[in-house]
Amino acid sequence: MAVFDEISKKDHEQVIFCYNKEANLRAIIGIHNTTLGPALGGTRMWMYASENDALVDVLRLSRGMTYKAAVAGLNLGGGKAVIIGDPHKDKTESMFRAFGRFVDGLAGRYITAEDVGTSVEDMEFVRMETKYVTGIDKALGGSGDPSPFTAYGVYVGMKACMKELTGSDSLVGKKVAVQGAGHVAKYVCEHLAKEGAKIYVTDIYEDKAKAILSEYKGEFVHPDKIYDVDADVFCPCALGAIINDETIPRMKFKIIAGGANNQLADENKHGRILMEKGIIYAPDYAINAGGLINVANELEGYHPERAMKQAGQIYDTIRTILSIAKEHKIPTHEASNKLAEDRIKTIGKIRQIYSGESKFSGRLGEIYK
Ligand code: NAD
Repeated sequence: MAVFDEISKKDHEQVIFCYNKEANLRAIIGIHNTTLGPALGGTRMWMYASENDALVDVLRLSRGMTYKAAVAGLNLGGGKAVIIGDPHKDKTESMFRAFGRFVDGLAGRYITAEDVGTSVEDMEFVRMETKYVTGIDKALGGSGDPSPFTAYGVYVGMKACMKELTGSDSLVGKKVAVQGAGHVAKYVCEHLAKEGAKIYVTDIYEDKAKAILSEYKGEFVHPDKIYDVDADVFCPCALGAIINDETIPRMKFKIIAGGANNQLADENKHGRILMEKGIIYAPDYAINAGGLINVANELEGYHPERAMKQAGQIYDTIRTILSIAKEHKIPTHEASNKLAEDRIKTIGKIRQIYSGESKFSGRLGEIYK
């Protein structure tokens, strides 16, 4: 594989290959863009079929973090790391400490956190070697479980979509179909029930859905039938790629607003189909940014109230995205990307103009063009 060709495709700033024989560490750190601030993103551990797959994944994920942080209004860039290995068999203290040394060597250009296949405990080993790690345990001054923050952002983002649809953001009496009954969904249902929405909940583990329904009034739906529910809102909080050729024709929903990552099977194709069908889609990475906002708050001395307030601003973010989409007649995910790119460009220029360094860098000519 032509590694540099792959790196140059999406404008990554830096890719770091980390190897340590003693610790059996093979990891790749991708730094996509640090215009707004240090690149923040978790470390994924996965049994990649090839090193090529690991590189492609880290490039894709780190770029996604740039957009997510930018739209969330954070002063952070996009980064991500992958460790090649089996998270059930290959983890050791030395592996995560060796990885921590590599992170430390980047002197704050990249800040890591837990992700799929890694845990808060693994990050404690990383933390022994570097301060550039977030998402650590509450007992160690960290922010703990991000789900309540993610869920609150999803809830207010859903209200913003309802405002677009009806002129009022009230969810009283509205029907919401929730897919997945996990950490995020549980808190989303709590908000919805408090406001007086009617909830329909599914999970492949029926008991998880029923546990939620024992606390809040609503109906259980079989996992295969969730796309057919005659509800106002679909709230995916389980898997990715659930908006696809097979599911869209079944949907009667007017809004899709949920916490799951990578909801559109094919971003361009399915984002456009939703627009044509008149379904208001809250872009996943914008509406589910509450968790990222929460860990980002650790960097400034953690205050849960401040993190929750910032997650509440997702309401305005979704309103802005919907208005950009309307103005430019583009799908909402494109509007969200535009919002991110515009913010990076504008703040980047301001930083260049007012930093002493760039006055002499010769790039000022470009800035004032
Ligand atoms: P979770 O594992 O606690 O919950 C997911 C639930 O979905 C599980 O109960 C699982 O049984 C269920 N599920 C899986 N496949 C299903 C199917 N086909 N039909 C119905 N239910 C199914 O995860 P979570 O932390 O609640 O996260 C949910 C989603 O939100 C994930 O996509 C995650 O990546 C994303 N997300 C979570 C956070 C967070 O703060 N936890 C932040 C951003 C994004």
